Amino acid sequence: MPIIEYDRGIRISGTPLWLDAEKRVPFSFISHAHSDHVRRHDKIIATPATVSLVHLRFKKQEAIALNFGEKYRIDDATIELFPAGHVLGSAQIFIQKEHLNIIYTGDFKIDRNETTLPATFRSADILIMESTFGSPEFRFPKKYVIVEKMVQFIEKCFQRGQVPIVMGYRLGKAQEAIKILGDLNYQISVHSSIEPVLKIYEQHGVKFNNYQAFTGEDLRGKVLVIPPHLSRSHQIKKIYNAKKLLLSGWAVNNKVGYWYDVDEAIPFSDHADYRQLIEYVHKVNPQKIFVTHGVESFVHDLRREGFDADFFHPTPQMSLF
Ligand SMILES: [Zn+2]
Repeated sequence: MPIIEYDRGIRISGTPLWLDAEKRVPFSFISHAHSDHVRRHDKIIATPATVSLVHLRFKKQEAIALNFGEKYRIDDATIELFPAGHVLGSAQIFIQKEHLNIIYTGDFKIDRNETTLPATFRSADILIMESTFGSPEFRFPKKYVIVEKMVQFIEKCFQRGQVPIVMGYRLGKAQEAIKILGDLNYQISVHSSIEPVLKIYEQHGVKFNNYQAFTGEDLRGKVLVIPPHLSRSHQIKKIYNAKKLLLSGWAVNNKVGYWYDVDEAIPFSDHADYRQLIEYVHKVNPQKIFVTHGVESFVHDLRREGFDADFFHPTPQMSLF
């Protein structure tokens, strides 16, 4: 009998537990609250912060809130969550079943964020991991370089009488930008779509300085933070003399500026870069790796490093280990 099955989501065989199931299922672990990982399941298990964020979208979602390090039994398996360093509440899951230790990473980041707990490492027999940036061209700069570039962009805008608009996903990147810039004493105006998420960060103990909700006010001397999908919206287009900066790992790709209609882009990511993905695998040192969310070439790179690795193909009813 296989331990892991794949059918539009990963399932631990012999238990009702799915891992970030892509379809509605009776019971799923939710690694974090980004929309590609959240569905309306009958019941979920996640960290308390992720449960709060999921409730923003699905108010009545039945949920078990499990703290980091707390053990929970599901049939003959024991699970435990530990930090993934990606966004508030993001967790990796450690599963013990039939003398095998399994880790599913969800999305994770190795470099430390300001607004999330840093990722921790454990060893395991089977590793199921993301590889969003699993290609060698994805090498992200150090945090101080990113902050310096953000500051340069903003100061240049102020000198020219322009309005700096910083763009980051409404869960994660936006809060990082607000935290960094607020702590540097910039006055920040926050788009209304980001505010409910920001409030949940605050409820879970993250403190932000110098921000207020954007009400269409005069933005002189302020930094406006918005999610990237609003870059071409009427509300943003009518801001006079604006300059837009995108924060995204995809900024390594030159086309990203065109996609989002931005003036500048900095490769600031909530994910591990290529080198860190490889480093992570060496630390876990598993017998078997399954790769999700990313590029297939990463599997070949892992094999060259001496690991037994496969990619999860989206084929129905695949029994894996
Ligand atoms: Zn994510």
